[in-house]
Amino acid sequence: MNLRDLYLSEIEDELLKMGEKKYRAKQIFAWLYRGVTSFEEMTDLPKDLIEKLKANYELNCTKIAKFQKSKDGTIKYLIELNDGNAIESVLMKYKYGNTACLSNQIGCKMGCNFCASAGIGFVRNLTPGEIISQILEIERHSGERISNIVFMGIGEPLDNYDNVIKAIRLINDPKGLNIGARHISISTCGLIPNIKRLAEENIQCNLCISLHSSRDDVRTSMMPVNKKYPISELIVACKEYIEKTNRRITFEYALVDGVNDSLDDANHLAKLLRGMLCHVNLIPVNKIKDGIYEKSSTEKILAFRDFLNDKGIVATVRRELGSDIDAACGQLVRNNY
Ligand code: SAH
Repeated sequence: MNLRDLYLSEIEDELLKMGEKKYRAKQIFAWLYRGVTSFEEMTDLPKDLIEKLKANYELNCTKIAKFQKSKDGTIKYLIELNDGNAIESVLMKYKYGNTACLSNQIGCKMGCNFCASAGIGFVRNLTPGEIISQILEIERHSGERISNIVFMGIGEPLDNYDNVIKAIRLINDPKGLNIGARHISISTCGLIPNIKRLAEENIQCNLCISLHSSRDDVRTSMMPVNKKYPISELIVACKEYIEKTNRRITFEYALVDGVNDSLDDANHLAKLLRGMLCHVNLIPVNKIKDGIYEKSSTEKILAFRDFLNDKGIVATVRRELGSDIDAACGQLVRNNY
C-alpha cells in the first residue's frame, strides 16, 4: 500500500490498525505534501514508528527519468513509475502562475485520431498517488510552486474517474497540496455518464469539453467516442452541468485546416452554443507523428475567433507552449523501459 494513495482518514485507520496513536497520521500526511522521499525525513516521528512504516508501506511512486526544456520555458518530464512504465507531465509558466499538465492513465482508450496519446495503446489507470506525485516531482525539480493543475496530459480523466476525483480532493485539501478547485481543470472527450456524476461531486473545478466540431459526422471522424455520445446528448449533459454547478464550461476546439475551420463551421458552432454559460478555447492543431491533419492558417484562426466573439460567444486562442519539444496538446506519449 502506498501512503500517497490515501486520505488523512485512511492513514488514521492504518495507524490504529498498527496500534499507533491516531494523531501521528496528521504528521505523516503533512510530510507527504512537503515532498519528502524517505520516511527518515519525517523527523517528528519516533524511530520505531518509522521502522514500522518502512516495513509496511510504500512512500514513493514516481521518479523523473528525463526532462526537456522548450525555448518558451515549458519543461516536459518523462516520469518513471514503480512498475517500469512511464508517462509525461508538463510544466508551463504563465504570467499568473505555473501550471502542471498531468497524465492520469498510461495510454488512452479513446482513439482520437489527432492525438499522439491515442496511438500508444492503453496499459492501466494511474493511482491517486501517481497523479499527485507528478506535481511534487515537478515542484522539486524546478524549484517552482505550482498554482494551477490541468488534467490534459495522457489519458481520459473521466475514464479513471474515482482515482482522478480522489487526487483532486487530496490536491484540494488544505492539509494536502492546498490548491483550490478553481485552479484545477479537467478536460474530457465527453463521457456523458461521468459528466453527470461530476456535477454531483460539489467540486468547484473547471470542466473542459473537447468538442472539435459541432457536426456529428466530422466529430465522429476525429473522435470515435462521438458514436456513443453524440453532440446533441453531450450538449444536454453540459447544460445540466451548468445548471447544477453554476459553473462556466470551456469547449476546446482544435482547428484543423479544411476540416472544421470555415466560417460556416464557426456559425454552426455559435448556433449550437448560443445562450450557454461557456467559453471556447481554440487550439491550433499540433502536428503528431504520422498525423493526417494540418494546422489552420493564422488568418483563419483569427477569423474563426472573431466570428464567434461577434456572435456573443467568448472565444480565445490557446497559446502554443512546448511544441518544439513535443510537449504541446496531443503530443504526449508514454515510453517503456
Ligand atoms: N482526454 C482528455 C484530455 C486530452 S488533452 C480530453 O479528451 O479532453 C487536452 C486537449 O488537447 C483536448 O482538448 C484534446 O482534444 C486536445 N488535443 C489532443 N491532441 C491535440 C492536437 N494534436 N492538437 C491540438 N489539440 C489536441
